[in-house]
Amino acid sequence: TARIFSGMQPTSDSLHLGNYLGALTQWVALQDGNDAIYCVVDLHALTVGPDPAVLRERTRRTAAQYLAGGVDPARSTLFVQSHVAEHAELAWILSCHTGFGEASRMTQFKDKSAKQGTEGTTVGLFTYPVLMAADILLYDTAKVPVGEDQRQHLELTRDLAQRLNSRFGAGTFVVPEPHIVKETAKIYDLQDPTAKMSKSAGSPNGLIELLDNPKTIAKRIRSAVTDTGREIRFDPENKAGVSNLLTIFSALSGRSIADLEAEFDGKGYGDLKVALADLVVEWVTPFQARVNEYLDDPAELDAVLAAGAEKARSIAAVTLDRVYERSGLLARR
Ligand code: ATP
Ligand code: MG
Repeated sequence: TARIFSGMQPTSDSLHLGNYLGALTQWVALQDGNDAIYCVVDLHALTVGPDPAVLRERTRRTAAQYLAGGVDPARSTLFVQSHVAEHAELAWILSCHTGFGEASRMTQFKDKSAKQGTEGTTVGLFTYPVLMAADILLYDTAKVPVGEDQRQHLELTRDLAQRLNSRFGAGTFVVPEPHIVKETAKIYDLQDPTAKMSKSAGSPNGLIELLDNPKTIAKRIRSAVTDTGREIRFDPENKAGVSNLLTIFSALSGRSIADLEAEFDGKGYGDLKVALADLVVEWVTPFQARVNEYLDDPAELDAVLAAGAEKARSIAAVTLDRVYERSGLLARR
């Protein structure tokens, strides 16, 4: 059994299909036979300056979507990042070991800050990857299931773990491995199949949101950008849009790409889109019903999160004590 850790930001009312296929599906699979810890990373979401009431609502909605997607609190630890103070505390220590240039090379920071301008960009957005490293390292994590976009942040996390191990002694941190499943590691925007589907960037029409009205979901799939050809073939370089639709179809149905290519041989893009829209709607309908059940009982949901926070804290406190001691901080009484 290995320690697994991952999280998502409550930056939207709904997760999208990229979050589900790239991350949540892997989280659920990795619960079996492992010790998994899953977190709603609300401190990370503060980097985009959310309205307080909206953030609170989205934090519960994100947790409800984890549960509806199959995260099982009887087997895994499920909690909210801000409930475990050690995340922010370890992030400070790690920030004192992170080079300014090293942090400046993070492509997510470069992309997001370019859109916001220097005055609109906070120091929090800059240090986001350091907080993410703290999230992971606090739990002696072996494997981190994430999408392809998080590979560089995982690399920084590994560098920091190795750096502190060499400064403060072996065993200060476990060096984690990313768990990135190639087929679904990057689901693309329906309107711009060269960009990743994203909660906070891109046009709304490019997104498949799990909690959206099924009619809207179907319409967005039917309006997905394809190409001027006719052939339904998996070819990400020349047919990015069609290939993205095939990836989603294959992942949700469990059927191979080759099988789908054979089924749609001689048919048009419209046929593929209609069939995919039906499949997605059939899948989201019971998912939405489950999410609503969790949201209808916020007291029960909060109790699950509180129990998870208590378990997480007991692990995180041990790691933080070790790091504080090795850093030369005077032991607290
Ligand atoms: P934001 O735009 O606010 O950063 P996001 O859509 O990138 O939102 P996150 O909460 O940052 O979502 O990421 C949650 C998880 O989903 C991460 O593991 C991330 O790698 C994964 N993920 C995000 N977008 C995709 C995508 N398009 N395809 C596959 N995985 C994705
Ligand atoms: Mg993101």
